[in-house]
Amino acid sequence: MAANLLDFDLEGLAAFCDGLGEKRFRATQLYRWIHQKGAGDFAAMSDLAKSLRTKLAEVAEVRALPLISEHVSTDGTTKWLFDVGHGNAVETVFIPEADRGTLCVSSQAGCAVGCRFCSTGHQGFSRNLTTGEIVGQLWFAEHRLRRSLGLAEGERAIDNVVMMGMGEPLQNYAALVPALRTMLDDHGYGLSRRRVTVSTSGMVTMIDRLREDCPVALAVSLHAPNDALRDALVPLNRKDGIEALLDACVRYLDKAPRDFVTFEYCMLDGVNDTPELAHELVQLVSGQAPASRRVGRVPCKFNLIPFNPFPASGLKRSPRERVLAFAQVLQDAGIVTTIRKTRGDDIDAACGQLAGEVQDRTGAPARLARRRELIPIAVAGAAR
Ligand code: SAH
Ligand code: SF4
Repeated sequence: MAANLLDFDLEGLAAFCDGLGEKRFRATQLYRWIHQKGAGDFAAMSDLAKSLRTKLAEVAEVRALPLISEHVSTDGTTKWLFDVGHGNAVETVFIPEADRGTLCVSSQAGCAVGCRFCSTGHQGFSRNLTTGEIVGQLWFAEHRLRRSLGLAEGERAIDNVVMMGMGEPLQNYAALVPALRTMLDDHGYGLSRRRVTVSTSGMVTMIDRLREDCPVALAVSLHAPNDALRDALVPLNRKDGIEALLDACVRYLDKAPRDFVTFEYCMLDGVNDTPELAHELVQLVSGQAPASRRVGRVPCKFNLIPFNPFPASGLKRSPRERVLAFAQVLQDAGIVTTIRKTRGDDIDAACGQLAGEVQDRTGAPARLARRRELIPIAVAGAAR
């Protein structure tokens, strides 16, 4: 099968070109054609020798995932559904804002982490995306938007990427890192490290690896201030616990492009949204709670996400006043706190609602149902 050139970061493409007997600067030219100009057809790459173009057409291709559908919301949010085979799909969402354009990218079809409140988690894990399938979402979206928005040469549509679509990016690490490198590379998309965010449910060892290999902005999906509650909401917390997670966050910060970690906190009615838990959270990140005494203060911001309900979750969104009260407690303690606006509601593009069509191939819903019988969700305030 022909090599997919979207699978390579610049180093990888240079090695591939070397195998064809081509010099490194040819790889750079090719990389720029693909990522900066959105070219997928070698014949169009006019400054490459004809012989190279012919050779490339025989052994390589530029292949993003097949598009299934495109939905544009009344607020401009655009959702693309891509086919990943076997009846499964992943989604990519573009969120236009006054001062920037954000692309929310998927890293896996489904997810094995199985968070209680996440519809991707309820669907189970299907497969990892390849590097080309991850970066291909940006390649496709950037160049499609440039055309549809009529942008001039050199203007870009997307200047912010968040790995907050389907999947746990740090469970697909080998494919993720070259994709991030292409997002950052000046010959690729040239995005600032501060504007590429990996969001994770908190895989401690992988946070440490990312710190070494490709430190970009970090968002950690915290959702609870203590292990009892977090164990019930985010199953992988049982492996390392909150203290180890906070420790990894602090270590990450000395290499990170920003001097704070963003904690995401999904607001679930009656589960994790009381003022008592907000106070406990303040203690946690200021190094005063049992789980953080050793770690000390964690420089952070909070992003409160109104829960997007789906029937199988059995959970409800926190009322607006409770979200505001929770935010106030954090803000009063000097922690910058934002409440995420829900965008693209009319096209189901909001967090945790992605790719409702993805089929389960792993029996995860049954496992989750069993797990739920064993570990009832802790009632707010009844923390250990
Ligand atoms: N696996 C990664 C990234 C994908 S999920 C992670 O968990 O961080 C991106 C964000 O959406 C996470 O913060 C997650 O907690 C949140 N999310 C998942 N399901 C949600 C839902 N139903 N409503 C609101 N936010 C949700
Ligand atoms: Fe996976 Fe993130 Fe959903 Fe948890 S919230 S199941 S880690 S995608």
